[in-house]
Amino acid sequence: MTDEDESAPTVAVVGGGAVGVTAAHDLAARGADVTLFERGDLAAESSGRAAGLFYDAYAEDVDAAVGARSLERFRAFDRTLPGFSFAACPYVIAVREGDSDADAVPAMVERMRAHGRDVSVVDPDALGERFPTLRTDDLAVAAVAEGAGWTDPPSYVRALGGRAAREGVAIETETAVALGPLTDAGRELRVRDAGADGDSGTETRVFDAVVVAAGAHTRSLLADADVAAPVVPYRVQALVAAERYDGPMVYDATADAYLRPHPDGLLAGDGTEPVSADPDGYRREADDWFREDVGTVLDERLAHGDRGGPDLNDARAWAGLCTATPDGDPLVGPVDAGGTADRASTGDTAPTLFVAAGWQGHGFMRAPAIGETVAEGVLASLDGVAFDASESPWIGAFDPRRFGSERFDADEPFEIVEGMSLSNRTDGE
Ligand SMILES: Cc1cc2nc3c(=O)[nH]c(=O)nc-3n(C[C@H](O)[C@H](O)[C@H](O)COP(=O)(O)OP(=O)(O)OC[C@H]3O[C@@H](n4cnc5c(N)ncnc54)[C@H](O)[C@@H]3O)c2cc1C
Repeated sequence: MTDEDESAPTVAVVGGGAVGVTAAHDLAARGADVTLFERGDLAAESSGRAAGLFYDAYAEDVDAAVGARSLERFRAFDRTLPGFSFAACPYVIAVREGDSDADAVPAMVERMRAHGRDVSVVDPDALGERFPTLRTDDLAVAAVAEGAGWTDPPSYVRALGGRAAREGVAIETETAVALGPLTDAGRELRVRDAGADGDSGTETRVFDAVVVAAGAHTRSLLADADVAAPVVPYRVQALVAAERYDGPMVYDATADAYLRPHPDGLLAGDGTEPVSADPDGYRREADDWFREDVGTVLDERLAHGDRGGPDLNDARAWAGLCTATPDGDPLVGPVDAGGTADRASTGDTAPTLFVAAGWQGHGFMRAPAIGETVAEGVLASLDGVAFDASESPWIGAFDPRRFGSERFDADEPFEIVEGMSLSNRTDGE
């Protein structure tokens, strides 16, 4: 964006997590006049509490394409984005003997491979030979995804935020916003900033488009604009143990837990509580049962045998929020029809309000691809391209308006299914 670009569309992005920062950066790189609003600091919420695993091991075609694009961008950022780097590391999916999900693994892997993903079924003995740090004698089957890695998620947000600022994005942190109505002038935002003297003030600002990438706060934010979005926050947990580990990343599907190397030892996580959590009042510390469960999984999965490692009661541990949707797919796209009665006089029918949320525990790893889709989708929508037009960049399966139908009522309670689980990933077979 330069000063001459007075005709550039004005876009507000609400939320300075991985998704919002990527979308803001990519919008500015495509010529939009972008303001990013974050009520705390960048990476203040889920993106600052994520474990940082990423991979492209998805069976669904859309998910595999999103995973592949994200991986491609992570690799490019690793080379070109100061302050960001990642460690390439294979990702093992392990299923124990007696777990009925084991039968589904070969077909699931076949579907991943059909999408060009470098994933193979591996015999447990061969897995143990390749990765002697792992115990594999209790496994029925395993798969290894080679296109995977891990990083420090807040470093991605801050590094890309820095580049976004250099691209001309106005980044307003410590600034909470609420959605206002659509008027002839555009979409109103009520902007509340803390002010230098600590007094907060509210002003109304108007944008051609507003993107809500507010993570666990997405549902309540959109409710202010009378938009019902079925995005429900739920609590998950992670810890860092001072135990040297240089093996692959592992998802123990039977135990529902994952682990990866970490500069301070080993990071392990999951501890999902599959119930709705209050984004402003949830418990941010980890639970004792989670530490105990992780201890058991490390004993069973790592070759050192019974807990010779550090006491996990001393481990740095935390909880954060993920977001679920009724069908496990995210909400990415426009949520208003545009052309409301308020705007009738302008004859403008383009949507003005967009959402990007509902990642089921995979929002960090999908952010590079989704931010790009949001940027291209918003600009295409403002240019009058219909959501379902052949040239539309939006992804049909992620249409946020799909729940208005008989299939899901946006305000109906639904079951929260943890996103890594194999039953979730093998859906649609
Ligand atoms: C313990 C844990 C481990 C995880 N591990 C992984 C992993 O390994 N890989 C992976 O892909 N994902 C992982 N996740 C999930 C991942 O953290 C999220 O999917 C991802 O960070 C979502 O990014 P986001 O930008 O959508 O949301 P967020 O990072 O939550 O950003 C939303 C932002 O919006 C701001 N906001 C909210 N309301 C307002 C408002 N009114 N005005 C202004 N700003 C507002 C918030 O302050 C927040 O900073 C993990 C999550 C947790 C908790």
